[in-house]
Amino acid sequence: MSFTRHYLDWNATAPLRPEARVAMIEALGVVGNPSSVHAEGRQARRIVEDAREKVAQLVGARPAEVVFTSGATEANNWVLGRAWGSVLYSRIEHPSVVAPALANEGESVELPVTSGGVLNLAALAAWLEAHGDELTRSPGRTVLALQSANNETGVVQPVEEAVILAASRSVLVHVDAVQTAGRLPIDFAGSGISFLAVSGHKIGGPKGVGALVVRPGAPLPPRLIGGGQERGQRAGTENVAAIAGFGAAAAAATGEIGYFAALGGLRDRLETAVIQATPEAVVIGQDSRRLPNTTCLGVPGRTAETLVAALDLAGIAVSAGAACSSGKVQASPVLAAMGLPRETARGAIRISIGPATTAEDIDAFVAAWIRITRRAAVAA
Ligand code: PMP
Repeated sequence: MSFTRHYLDWNATAPLRPEARVAMIEALGVVGNPSSVHAEGRQARRIVEDAREKVAQLVGARPAEVVFTSGATEANNWVLGRAWGSVLYSRIEHPSVVAPALANEGESVELPVTSGGVLNLAALAAWLEAHGDELTRSPGRTVLALQSANNETGVVQPVEEAVILAASRSVLVHVDAVQTAGRLPIDFAGSGISFLAVSGHKIGGPKGVGALVVRPGAPLPPRLIGGGQERGQRAGTENVAAIAGFGAAAAAATGEIGYFAALGGLRDRLETAVIQATPEAVVIGQDSRRLPNTTCLGVPGRTAETLVAALDLAGIAVSAGAACSSGKVQASPVLAAMGLPRETARGAIRISIGPATTAEDIDAFVAAWIRITRRAAVAA
């Protein structure tokens, strides 16, 4: 067995980019508080504002629209945790969207998804139509939460179409863009989106930093009050080093967006080899538009935990279902919402790659996969 590790879990967290590491170390050496007016303070402020520009560029927004947070979980909670008349969401959203959506004091409206893992636009249109009069009478009281792509399946969501439908009834749209930032172009300025969440560690920045991009005039109370930082929207001394790393990663990711599409070749190589070795396996969401770096494989009759543990022993890091946060493995609500049979969903694992992934990594996965699934077949 090889002792080289093969990291194929980029949707959970991407390796820290060298540029981000350098920027963070430099920032750690800066003594000032960004709110102080002296030279040391101004130096820290420059780091924060420079990073803000880079993050804004990544998503096609203006720097003044970017508010730094502790991550996308906070950004999602910020928007969906305020009191809305109605929150529209679906079960393919990340738990940091679904939990606050369900806790809304007003109405929580769950929209269905297709078997391909895409938000059902016809159901959205029907709901908007049925509630048209109320919605136009009280504009800005309803929000639709729609991720740009799913973290488990990589299925890309019809954000543009949803925004057009929502806007026709004065419904605001919050986009969790964690999985597309740095992977597909984002044009916040021209999008009609009101709120957009991004995360540092999914693009090669540090963990524990992210941003909410807020369109001017979009109704959102401050996240934290006190010192007035972040234009009064999120008080508290900024995490300067993490923000610096996030900015550096955003700049590098912006430059690499074109390269990301090329990952589809490696992903396809993996899927073809897996299906050849285990024809009973299914590529979940295969007929939908997907991120080129993600594959979610369902293997009927197996348990994801066992597959993930066996692959880990073989030097390969992948995820089971949505286990990008806690390591606990439960039936995936995303796959359940797609109507996948339980039998297949229980054996679903996610492989997600990035710009540093090589053909050797893919071949190591395939070799381990063949060994593990044959062994299990013999044991069964
Ligand atoms: N949304 C999506 C789609 C994600 O994949 C994640 C990370 N698992 C988050 C939100 C949460 O991001 P963070 O880790 O920055 O809180």
